[in-house]
Amino acid sequence: MLSFIEVAADSDFSIHNLPFGIFIKDGHHIACTRIGDTIVDLHQCAESGLFDNLHLPHGIFRHTVLNAFIGLGKKVTSAVRTQVQQALTKGGFLDNEKFNKTDIFVSIHDVQMVLPIHIGDYTDFYSSREHATNVGIMFRDPANALLPNWLHLPVGYHGRASSIVASGTPIKRPNGQTMPDGSEKPIFGPTKQLDFELEMGFVIGKDSQLGTQITTEIAEEYIFGMMLFNDWSARDIQKWEYVPLGPFLAKNFASTISPWIVTLEALELFRVEGPVQEPEVLPYLKTEGPKNYDINLSVDILADNGAQKRVSTSNFKYMYWNMCQQLAHHTVNGCNMRIGDLLASGTISGPTPDSYGSMLEICWKGTKPVQMPDGTERKFIADGDTVVMRGWCEKDGIRVGFGPCDGKIVG
Ligand code: CA
Repeated sequence: MLSFIEVAADSDFSIHNLPFGIFIKDGHHIACTRIGDTIVDLHQCAESGLFDNLHLPHGIFRHTVLNAFIGLGKKVTSAVRTQVQQALTKGGFLDNEKFNKTDIFVSIHDVQMVLPIHIGDYTDFYSSREHATNVGIMFRDPANALLPNWLHLPVGYHGRASSIVASGTPIKRPNGQTMPDGSEKPIFGPTKQLDFELEMGFVIGKDSQLGTQITTEIAEEYIFGMMLFNDWSARDIQKWEYVPLGPFLAKNFASTISPWIVTLEALELFRVEGPVQEPEVLPYLKTEGPKNYDINLSVDILADNGAQKRVSTSNFKYMYWNMCQQLAHHTVNGCNMRIGDLLASGTISGPTPDSYGSMLEICWKGTKPVQMPDGTERKFIADGDTVVMRGWCEKDGIRVGFGPCDGKIVG
C-alpha cells in the first residue's frame, strides 16, 4: 500500500499507522491523523465528503479532545481510519485536484500537537518483572526481590490525571520533603534525584458499568489505543514519603505522553506471546493467544549543550502482565472504566542493564553513573536535560511508531 504523500522509510507514520491526535490551527483544536510529516485535518476530510457514508455527528472533529469521537465506538473509529487509509493511497479519494489540499494537509512543523484526550482517571501498574525485581534487589532483599503477591496479580495504584501533559511541555523540577542519609530531620527543597520511567499507556475506548467486570476475553474491545508514557519520578521524595501508602508527591507533579494515539488495529501485525506465567494465574486473569506487542523502545538524554546519549533500549514485549489482564484485574471488583481513562504499564525494563527503564536501575542507585559525550556524568536528570522516549514496531517492511515523547527539565 503506497500513498501519494511522501513518507520516509524510517518514519513512524507510515500509511499502516494513521494514529489519532489533536492539533491547534488558528486557535482551534482539530482532530487529525498523520502520514510522514504531514498532518491530515479530519474536519476538512469530513467537509470534503470522505465520511458521508458514516453519518458522523456534525463537528465531531472540532472538539478539544477525542473523547466524543472515541465514544462513537470502534466500529466507527476503525471505519474512519480505514477510509482515510484508502483515501491516502495513490489514486485514492484525496488524491484529487478538486480539493483544496492546503486545508486538508498541514506540515507537522507548522502546528502544535496537544493532549489528545480528557483523562478522567489514571492508573499506573507495576507490571515488568525485571523492573520489580531490580527495585526489590536494591531496596529490599535480593533473595526475595519480588513481594509475595507480585506473580499473582498486576500490582497498581491510582495516579493523578491533572498533571499529565503532552510531549514538548517543559517539566519544572519539583520541590518536596526528603530525609537525607544520616540526617535526623527531613529537609525541604528541589529534588536531587529526578528520574524518568519508561512506560506505555493505553486509552479506554468504551465505558463500563459500575459493578460489572471487563473480562480478559472482551478487554480489547475496551482499549482504543496506546502511547508512550514517561512517569517522571523524584526518587528522594519517593523514598521518604511512600511508606505506608505508596507513591504520592514523588509522582504526581508530571507525566508526559506522546501526542498520538496508535490504535490496536495498527499494532495488530506486531502481536507476540508474553512471558510464560508461572505459577499459574487465577482463572479471571487467564488469556488466550498472543496479547503482548513487539514495540521497540528507547530513551535518550539530550543535554542543553547538545550532548546526547542513548541510555536505554527496551521492548514492550517484556511485560509480564498484559493489558487485558491489567484491565480485568482493575475491574474485577466492579470498578468502572470511562472513555479517556489512561492505564500505564509501569516501568518497562528488559533483562540486561542496557534495557532498564529508569535511571535508578541504569545507574544502580547511583553506583554506575552514565558518562555523557561532553565528559559530564548523570546519576539522575539534570536541569536543562531533555528526556526523549521513542517507540516503534517493524515487521515485513512495515513500520508503525509513536513519535517522540519528550520533556525538558527546567529548574
Ligand atoms: Ca511508574
